[in-house]
Amino acid sequence: MGNKTLKFKSDRFRKLRGGHSRLLLISCAKCKTQLFVYQKDGPGILKRLYLDRIAGQVKTRCGKCKIIIGIRTVYKKENRPVIRLFAGAVERQVISADKAKKFVRGSK
Ligand SMILES: [Zn+2]
Repeated sequence: MGNKTLKFKSDRFRKLRGGHSRLLLISCAKCKTQLFVYQKDGPGILKRLYLDRIAGQVKTRCGKCKIIIGIRTVYKKENRPVIRLFAGAVERQVISADKAKKFVRGSK
């Protein structure tokens, strides 16, 4: 799972959220290991990560400190596979598309 390319996904889900997206670099809150790049559509806090918005490898556990950041489930309202994040498990940082591309390339 996860996207190999880093093009903003534009679909009905993005439009539902106003069409505004940002790229976030998601890191382990405990050891600061960078986990993956995520396309966040619209405003609001990060409670769940849609798998089709993750660039790079989908992980529910930090590869370094092994902490579990969330569980894979299906968000029933939209019938989309997600990672439901545990509170405080990850940190996020807005990054540029260029930086995101470099990160995804480097993490393969
Ligand atoms: Zn960690």
